[in-house]
Amino acid sequence: MSKKIIVTGGSGMVGQGFKDFDNIILTSSADCDLTNQVRVESLFRSLVKYHEIEGVIHLAAKVGGVKGNTDYVGDYFYDNIMMNTNVLHACHKNNINNVISLLSTCVYPEHADFPLTEDQIHEGKPHKSNFGYAYSKRMLDVHSRAYRQQYNRNYITAIPNNLYGPNDMFDLENGHVIPSVIRKIWEAKQTGIPPIFWGDGTPLREFTYSEDIAPILIFLLENYSSPHPINIGNVNEYTISSVVSKISKHLDYNGDVVWDDNYPSGIFRKPSSINKLVNLGWDINNYTPLNDGLKSTCEWFKKEYPNVRGV
Ligand code: NDP
Repeated sequence: MSKKIIVTGGSGMVGQGFKDFDNIILTSSADCDLTNQVRVESLFRSLVKYHEIEGVIHLAAKVGGVKGNTDYVGDYFYDNIMMNTNVLHACHKNNINNVISLLSTCVYPEHADFPLTEDQIHEGKPHKSNFGYAYSKRMLDVHSRAYRQQYNRNYITAIPNNLYGPNDMFDLENGHVIPSVIRKIWEAKQTGIPPIFWGDGTPLREFTYSEDIAPILIFLLENYSSPHPINIGNVNEYTISSVVSKISKHLDYNGDVVWDDNYPSGIFRKPSSINKLVNLGWDINNYTPLNDGLKSTCEWFKKEYPNVRGV
Protein backbone atom coordinates (compact mmCIF):
# COMPACT_ATOMS: atom_id res chain seq x y z
CA MET A 1 0.00 0.00 0.00
CA SER A 2 1.59 3.34 -1.02
CA LYS A 3 1.55 6.05 1.59
CA LYS A 4 -0.93 8.87 1.08
CA ILE A 5 -1.03 12.54 2.03
CA ILE A 6 -4.43 13.98 2.95
CA VAL A 7 -5.04 17.56 1.77
CA THR A 8 -7.90 19.53 3.35
CA GLY A 9 -9.28 22.44 1.31
CA GLY A 10 -8.61 20.41 -1.84
CA SER A 11 -11.24 22.23 -3.92
CA GLY A 12 -9.74 25.65 -3.15
CA MET A 13 -7.19 27.70 -5.06
CA VAL A 14 -4.12 26.25 -3.29
CA GLY A 15 -5.61 22.75 -2.97
CA GLN A 16 -6.15 22.52 -6.74
CA GLY A 17 -2.37 22.82 -7.13
CA PHE A 18 -2.17 19.21 -5.82
CA LYS A 19 -4.63 17.73 -8.30
CA ASP A 20 -1.96 16.18 -10.54
CA PHE A 21 0.26 14.91 -7.69
CA ASP A 22 0.46 11.19 -6.94
CA ASN A 23 -0.66 9.71 -3.63
CA ILE A 24 -2.74 12.69 -2.58
CA ILE A 25 -6.25 12.44 -1.13
CA LEU A 26 -7.99 15.78 -1.76
CA THR A 27 -10.86 16.57 0.59
CA SER A 28 -13.29 19.50 0.60
CA SER A 29 -16.43 20.63 2.41
CA ALA A 30 -18.39 18.19 0.23
CA ASP A 31 -16.64 15.33 2.10
CA CYS A 32 -16.96 16.85 5.56
CA ASP A 33 -17.77 20.13 7.29
CA LEU A 34 -14.53 20.55 9.21
CA THR A 35 -16.19 22.80 11.80
CA ASN A 36 -18.07 19.68 13.02
CA GLN A 37 -15.86 17.71 15.39
CA VAL A 38 -17.83 14.45 15.18
CA ARG A 39 -17.71 14.44 11.38
CA VAL A 40 -14.01 15.34 11.29
CA GLU A 41 -13.16 12.47 13.62
CA SER A 42 -15.21 10.07 11.54
CA LEU A 43 -13.56 11.28 8.28
CA PHE A 44 -10.03 10.82 9.62
CA ARG A 45 -10.90 7.47 11.25
CA SER A 46 -12.13 6.11 7.93
CA LEU A 47 -9.18 7.53 5.94
CA VAL A 48 -6.71 5.96 8.35
CA LYS A 49 -8.60 2.66 8.21
CA TYR A 50 -8.29 2.32 4.42
CA HIS A 51 -4.96 4.09 3.71
CA GLU A 52 -1.50 4.35 5.15
CA ILE A 53 -1.23 8.07 5.85
CA GLU A 54 2.16 9.77 5.63
CA GLY A 55 0.87 13.18 6.63
CA VAL A 56 -1.77 15.88 6.34
CA ILE A 57 -1.57 19.21 4.54
CA HIS A 58 -4.21 21.40 6.16
CA LEU A 59 -5.33 24.17 3.79
CA ALA A 60 -9.06 24.45 4.52
CA ALA A 61 -10.04 27.85 5.83
CA LYS A 62 -12.56 30.63 5.51
CA VAL A 63 -10.54 33.08 3.42
CA GLY A 64 -11.37 36.58 2.17
CA GLY A 65 -10.38 40.18 1.69
CA VAL A 66 -10.48 43.11 4.10
CA LYS A 67 -14.22 43.77 3.85
CA GLY A 68 -15.27 40.16 4.45
CA ASN A 69 -12.80 39.83 7.32
CA THR A 70 -14.21 42.96 8.95
CA ASP A 71 -17.94 42.47 8.32
CA TYR A 72 -17.88 38.79 9.30
CA VAL A 73 -15.08 38.89 11.87
CA GLY A 74 -16.94 36.54 14.24
CA ASP A 75 -17.58 33.95 11.52
CA TYR A 76 -13.95 34.12 10.40
CA PHE A 77 -12.85 33.44 13.97
CA TYR A 78 -15.37 30.64 14.67
CA ASP A 79 -15.07 28.73 11.40
CA ASN A 80 -11.30 28.86 11.33
CA ILE A 81 -10.62 28.04 14.97
CA MET A 82 -13.09 25.13 14.81
CA MET A 83 -11.67 23.71 11.56
CA ASN A 84 -8.08 24.03 12.75
CA THR A 85 -8.70 22.59 16.20
CA ASN A 86 -10.77 19.67 14.88
CA VAL A 87 -8.27 18.77 12.14
CA LEU A 88 -5.19 18.88 14.35
CA HIS A 89 -6.87 16.94 17.14
CA ALA A 90 -8.23 14.28 14.74
CA CYS A 91 -4.72 13.85 13.30
CA HIS A 92 -3.33 13.37 16.77
CA LYS A 93 -6.07 10.93 17.82
CA ASN A 94 -5.46 8.88 14.67
CA ASN A 95 -1.73 8.83 15.24
CA ILE A 96 -0.87 10.90 12.15
CA ASN A 97 2.55 12.24 13.00
CA ASN A 98 3.16 14.81 10.23
CA VAL A 99 0.90 17.82 9.65
CA ILE A 100 1.64 21.07 7.89
CA SER A 101 -0.88 23.91 8.18
CA LEU A 102 -1.00 27.31 6.50
CA LEU A 103 -1.03 30.64 8.28
CA SER A 104 -0.74 33.95 6.35
CA THR A 105 1.47 37.05 6.46
CA CYS A 106 -1.66 39.05 7.30
CA VAL A 107 -1.65 37.47 10.77
CA TYR A 108 1.65 39.21 11.65
CA PRO A 109 1.41 42.12 14.14
CA GLU A 110 0.31 45.42 12.66
CA HIS A 111 3.54 47.05 13.83
CA ALA A 112 5.99 44.23 13.09
CA ASP A 113 9.48 45.13 11.84
CA PHE A 114 10.22 44.64 8.14
CA PRO A 115 11.05 42.32 6.63
CA LEU A 116 8.52 40.08 8.40
CA THR A 117 10.44 37.31 10.15
CA GLU A 118 8.81 34.28 11.72
CA ASP A 119 9.92 35.12 15.28
CA GLN A 120 7.56 38.14 15.29
CA ILE A 121 4.28 36.32 14.70
CA HIS A 122 2.96 36.71 18.28
CA GLU A 123 4.82 39.96 19.10
CA GLY A 124 1.89 42.40 19.04
CA LYS A 125 -1.72 42.77 17.96
CA PRO A 126 -2.75 41.90 14.41
CA HIS A 127 -4.41 44.59 12.28
CA LYS A 128 -7.91 45.29 13.61
CA SER A 129 -9.51 44.65 10.20
CA ASN A 130 -8.83 40.89 10.42
CA PHE A 131 -8.27 40.07 14.09
CA GLY A 132 -10.76 37.14 14.05
CA TYR A 133 -8.93 35.38 11.20
CA ALA A 134 -5.51 36.35 12.56
CA TYR A 135 -5.99 35.03 16.10
CA SER A 136 -7.55 31.79 14.85
CA LYS A 137 -4.48 31.26 12.63
CA ARG A 138 -2.08 32.18 15.44
CA MET A 139 -3.79 29.56 17.64
CA LEU A 140 -3.09 26.99 14.91
CA ASP A 141 0.59 27.73 15.47
CA VAL A 142 0.13 27.44 19.25
CA HIS A 143 -1.81 24.17 18.91
CA SER A 144 0.83 22.66 16.60
CA ARG A 145 3.61 23.65 18.97
CA ALA A 146 1.75 22.32 22.03
CA TYR A 147 1.19 18.86 20.45
CA ARG A 148 4.84 18.79 19.39
CA GLN A 149 5.94 19.55 22.95
CA GLN A 150 3.55 17.20 24.76
CA TYR A 151 3.19 14.35 22.24
CA ASN A 152 6.28 14.74 20.08
CA ARG A 153 4.18 15.32 16.93
CA ASN A 154 5.82 16.85 13.87
CA TYR A 155 3.14 19.53 13.41
CA ILE A 156 4.49 22.56 11.52
CA THR A 157 3.09 25.81 10.15
CA ALA A 158 4.02 27.71 6.97
CA ILE A 159 3.26 31.34 6.13
CA PRO A 160 2.51 32.37 2.52
CA ASN A 161 2.08 36.01 1.46
CA ASN A 162 -0.56 37.17 -1.10
CA LEU A 163 -1.56 34.24 -3.32
CA TYR A 164 -3.23 34.39 -6.73
CA GLY A 165 -4.00 31.92 -9.50
CA PRO A 166 -6.70 29.84 -11.21
CA ASN A 167 -9.70 29.00 -8.96
CA ASP A 168 -9.29 32.21 -6.94
CA MET A 169 -12.28 34.08 -5.50
CA PHE A 170 -13.28 36.95 -7.83
CA ASP A 171 -15.77 38.65 -5.50
CA LEU A 172 -15.12 42.42 -5.72
CA GLU A 173 -16.00 43.13 -2.08
CA ASN A 174 -14.49 40.04 -0.51
CA GLY A 175 -11.64 39.11 -2.82
CA HIS A 176 -7.93 39.92 -2.84
CA VAL A 177 -6.01 42.44 -5.01
CA ILE A 178 -5.17 40.38 -8.12
CA PRO A 179 -8.55 38.67 -8.66
CA SER A 180 -10.32 42.02 -8.12
CA VAL A 181 -8.08 43.74 -10.69
CA ILE A 182 -8.60 40.92 -13.21
CA ARG A 183 -12.37 41.06 -12.86
CA LYS A 184 -12.58 44.88 -12.97
CA ILE A 185 -10.46 45.09 -16.10
CA TRP A 186 -12.32 42.26 -17.82
CA GLU A 187 -15.69 43.84 -17.05
CA ALA A 188 -14.42 47.30 -18.12
CA LYS A 189 -13.53 45.74 -21.45
CA GLN A 190 -17.12 44.50 -21.83
CA THR A 191 -18.87 47.69 -20.63
CA GLY A 192 -16.47 50.41 -21.80
CA ILE A 193 -16.63 51.97 -18.30
CA PRO A 194 -13.09 52.51 -16.92
CA PRO A 195 -12.24 50.44 -13.82
CA ILE A 196 -11.69 52.32 -10.55
CA PHE A 197 -8.86 51.29 -8.22
CA TRP A 198 -8.30 52.46 -4.65
CA GLY A 199 -5.43 54.78 -3.75
CA ASP A 200 -2.66 55.85 -6.11
CA GLY A 201 -1.19 52.48 -7.15
CA THR A 202 2.25 53.14 -5.60
CA PRO A 203 2.24 50.61 -2.69
CA LEU A 204 4.50 47.59 -3.11
CA ARG A 205 3.31 44.06 -2.51
CA GLU A 206 4.65 40.51 -2.78
CA PHE A 207 2.62 37.94 -4.75
CA THR A 208 3.00 34.17 -5.06
CA TYR A 209 1.44 32.00 -7.76
CA SER A 210 -0.87 29.52 -6.01
CA GLU A 211 0.52 26.49 -7.90
CA ASP A 212 3.98 27.17 -6.46
CA ILE A 213 2.72 26.32 -2.97
CA ALA A 214 2.08 22.56 -3.38
CA PRO A 215 5.73 21.61 -4.13
CA ILE A 216 6.97 23.82 -1.28
CA LEU A 217 4.65 22.10 1.19
CA ILE A 218 5.78 18.64 0.05
CA PHE A 219 9.40 19.83 0.40
CA LEU A 220 8.69 21.06 3.95
CA LEU A 221 6.99 17.80 4.95
CA GLU A 222 10.20 16.03 3.97
CA ASN A 223 12.75 18.58 5.19
CA TYR A 224 11.38 20.73 8.02
CA SER A 225 10.67 19.74 11.61
CA SER A 226 10.47 22.67 13.98
CA PRO A 227 8.14 24.32 16.48
CA HIS A 228 8.62 27.61 14.62
CA PRO A 229 6.63 28.74 11.57
CA ILE A 230 8.35 29.30 8.23
CA ASN A 231 7.64 31.98 5.58
CA ILE A 232 7.21 30.50 2.10
CA GLY A 233 6.12 33.28 -0.30
CA ASN A 234 7.87 34.78 -3.32
CA VAL A 235 9.43 37.98 -1.93
CA ASN A 236 9.78 40.03 -5.14
CA GLU A 237 7.86 43.29 -4.73
CA TYR A 238 5.68 44.98 -7.36
CA THR A 239 3.64 48.19 -7.28
CA ILE A 240 -0.12 47.75 -7.55
CA SER A 241 -0.05 49.97 -10.66
CA SER A 242 2.44 47.64 -12.36
CA VAL A 243 0.14 44.69 -11.58
CA VAL A 244 -2.73 46.61 -13.21
CA SER A 245 -0.59 47.27 -16.31
CA LYS A 246 0.45 43.61 -16.65
CA ILE A 247 -3.13 42.37 -16.27
CA SER A 248 -4.40 44.98 -18.78
CA LYS A 249 -1.87 43.63 -21.26
CA HIS A 250 -2.85 39.98 -20.71
CA LEU A 251 -6.55 40.86 -21.09
CA ASP A 252 -5.92 43.14 -24.12
CA TYR A 253 -7.43 46.14 -22.35
CA ASN A 254 -6.24 49.46 -23.77
CA GLY A 255 -8.77 51.80 -22.11
CA ASP A 256 -8.34 54.20 -19.21
CA VAL A 257 -8.06 53.21 -15.56
CA VAL A 258 -9.01 55.53 -12.69
CA TRP A 259 -7.01 55.79 -9.45
CA ASP A 260 -9.29 57.15 -6.72
CA ASP A 261 -7.10 58.63 -3.98
CA ASN A 262 -10.16 59.41 -1.85
CA TYR A 263 -9.68 55.80 -0.81
CA PRO A 264 -6.63 54.71 1.23
CA SER A 265 -3.68 53.20 -0.63
CA GLY A 266 -2.84 50.96 2.35
CA ILE A 267 0.56 50.40 3.93
CA PHE A 268 3.41 51.31 1.53
CA ARG A 269 5.35 48.03 1.82
CA LYS A 270 4.94 44.73 3.65
CA PRO A 271 8.04 42.73 2.73
CA SER A 272 8.69 39.30 4.25
CA SER A 273 11.87 37.27 4.66
CA ILE A 274 12.33 33.74 3.26
CA ASN A 275 15.88 33.31 4.50
CA LYS A 276 14.84 30.26 6.52
CA LEU A 277 13.32 28.52 3.49
CA VAL A 278 16.33 29.35 1.31
CA ASN A 279 18.75 28.12 3.99
CA LEU A 280 16.80 24.87 4.05
CA GLY A 281 17.65 24.41 0.36
CA TRP A 282 14.62 25.78 -1.51
CA ASP A 283 15.64 27.32 -4.83
CA ILE A 284 13.95 30.69 -5.38
CA ASN A 285 14.11 30.07 -9.15
CA ASN A 286 11.26 27.60 -8.57
CA TYR A 287 8.85 30.51 -8.08
CA THR A 288 6.75 31.35 -11.13
CA PRO A 289 7.61 34.92 -12.26
CA LEU A 290 4.69 37.30 -11.67
CA ASN A 291 4.15 38.03 -15.35
CA ASP A 292 3.91 34.30 -16.22
CA GLY A 293 1.56 33.57 -13.32
CA LEU A 294 -0.66 36.51 -14.29
CA LYS A 295 -0.72 35.35 -17.90
CA SER A 296 -1.89 31.82 -16.90
CA THR A 297 -4.42 33.21 -14.43
CA CYS A 298 -5.87 35.65 -17.01
CA GLU A 299 -6.09 32.87 -19.62
CA TRP A 300 -7.88 30.62 -17.13
CA PHE A 301 -10.22 33.48 -16.16
CA LYS A 302 -11.12 34.32 -19.78
CA LYS A 303 -11.98 30.67 -20.41
CA GLU A 304 -14.07 30.24 -17.25
CA TYR A 305 -15.82 33.65 -16.89
CA PRO A 306 -18.55 34.11 -15.67
CA ASN A 307 -18.41 30.66 -14.03
CA VAL A 308 -15.73 31.67 -11.54
CA ARG A 309 -16.10 31.89 -7.77
CA GLY A 310 -17.46 35.22 -6.54
CA VAL A 311 -19.09 36.39 -9.80
P1 NDP B 1 -9.94 28.92 -0.87
O1 NDP B 1 -10.99 29.85 -0.34
O2 NDP B 1 -9.67 28.92 -2.33
O3 NDP B 1 -10.31 27.42 -0.46
C1 NDP B 1 -10.75 27.15 0.82
C2 NDP B 1 -10.91 25.66 0.96
O4 NDP B 1 -11.36 25.40 2.30
C3 NDP B 1 -11.95 25.06 0.01
O5 NDP B 1 -11.52 23.79 -0.41
C4 NDP B 1 -13.17 24.91 0.91
O6 NDP B 1 -14.02 23.84 0.51
C5 NDP B 1 -12.51 24.57 2.23
N1 NDP B 1 -13.42 24.86 3.34
C6 NDP B 1 -13.90 26.06 3.72
N2 NDP B 1 -14.74 25.91 4.76
C7 NDP B 1 -14.78 24.58 5.02
C8 NDP B 1 -15.47 23.79 5.98
N3 NDP B 1 -16.30 24.33 6.90
N4 NDP B 1 -15.29 22.45 5.96
C9 NDP B 1 -14.46 21.88 5.03
N5 NDP B 1 -13.76 22.58 4.13
C10 NDP B 1 -13.93 23.92 4.12
O7 NDP B 1 -8.63 29.21 -0.05
P2 NDP B 1 -7.11 29.22 -0.57
O8 NDP B 1 -6.87 28.00 -1.37
O9 NDP B 1 -6.87 30.56 -1.14
O10 NDP B 1 -6.31 29.16 0.80
C11 NDP B 1 -5.69 27.96 1.26
C12 NDP B 1 -4.97 28.28 2.56
O11 NDP B 1 -3.98 29.27 2.31
C13 NDP B 1 -5.84 28.80 3.68
O12 NDP B 1 -5.49 28.18 4.89
C14 NDP B 1 -5.53 30.28 3.74
O13 NDP B 1 -5.70 30.81 5.02
C15 NDP B 1 -4.08 30.31 3.29
N6 NDP B 1 -3.65 31.56 2.67
C16 NDP B 1 -4.30 32.03 1.54
C17 NDP B 1 -3.90 33.22 0.96
C18 NDP B 1 -4.57 33.77 -0.26
O14 NDP B 1 -4.15 34.84 -0.74
N7 NDP B 1 -5.59 33.12 -0.82
C19 NDP B 1 -2.78 34.01 1.52
C20 NDP B 1 -2.14 33.40 2.65
C21 NDP B 1 -2.59 32.23 3.22
P3 NDP B 1 -15.28 24.09 -0.47
O15 NDP B 1 -14.73 24.62 -1.75
O16 NDP B 1 -15.87 22.74 -0.62
O17 NDP B 1 -16.13 25.07 0.25
